[in-house]
Amino acid sequence: MTEPIAVLGAGVMGVGISTLLAGHGLPVRLVDHDPEKLTLAPERIRRELRMAQLVGALPPGREQGRVTGHSDVSAAGGARLVIEAVTEDADLKSAVLAEVSAGTAPGTPLVSNTSSIPIDELADSLPRPGDLIGTHFMNPPALIGTTEVIRGARTAEATLAAVRGLLQEVGRRPVVVSDAPGFVTSRLLHPMINDAARLVQRGTASVEDVDALMQGCLGHRTGPLRTADLIGIDNLVDSLWVLLKRTGDEGCRPCGLLLRKVAEGHHGRKTGRGFYEYEESTR
Ligand code: NAD
Repeated sequence: MTEPIAVLGAGVMGVGISTLLAGHGLPVRLVDHDPEKLTLAPERIRRELRMAQLVGALPPGREQGRVTGHSDVSAAGGARLVIEAVTEDADLKSAVLAEVSAGTAPGTPLVSNTSSIPIDELADSLPRPGDLIGTHFMNPPALIGTTEVIRGARTAEATLAAVRGLLQEVGRRPVVVSDAPGFVTSRLLHPMINDAARLVQRGTASVEDVDALMQGCLGHRTGPLRTADLIGIDNLVDSLWVLLKRTGDEGCRPCGLLLRKVAEGHHGRKTGRGFYEYEESTR
């Protein structure tokens, strides 16, 4: 029997990553300290699996991996590999990764799905920094075929090889990059979304028109503001703060409109409202 993969955090990404793994037949232990997230996760995973099957993004005829819910990170003990997808907060991630490292066998790959925190910074909290690597699965992981992989300065060759192996198993194309705040994708995308929100804030164009121009003229698949809703505006703002603090780039300071949406609880698709509104059945 294949050892399970532990996924820490049952939010947007934990659910999406579990869908990708289970859809390829891999067993998953999904961990969250919020009981409501664990209660909602099975239905969300079912819905994402259905969608992925509908668009042909999963191997046909494969038996789905079993996903079990757990409230404590000790459930990662014995896992073949651990994927951390908790809230984008460096101190929180460091603490969770240190706890997991203490409870897993040396050499167990610890994979952080951080959007923007340098991997080598998170590795400082670990007795075995070589076990840590970054993957930047994007939402929805089962539908996006390419995965940014972040090799920290101290990431071991064996850890990189294990992650390459896993990505191959689940049909993702890895693109390995060096460590930096926001790596490649968030360093480019997040300030751009911030600028798009700033244009709306200034009254240059409506939300719909900003997205229509980026889609229609520049070929952006969803438009930056619909992308913000898909990411989660709270998570986007957390990542922008990480980028600002570590790069000093003022373009990363979250604009007032983004901050207001977070304060009002309009976090995007996951809360039913962000720049756009979403029916319960589409969340
Ligand atoms: P989210 O807010 O939807 O979910 C985070 C989850 O972590 C929550 O369910 C929370 O209860 C849980 N959590 C927090 N502390 C915990 C702890 N100590 N133990 C167990 N669970 C804990 O966030 P998300 O959008 O799923 O993002 C997760 C990570 O993935 C972040 O680092 C984020 O930057 C990154 N990421 C997000 C996206 C995206 O599109 N949302 C894309 C790529 C990467």
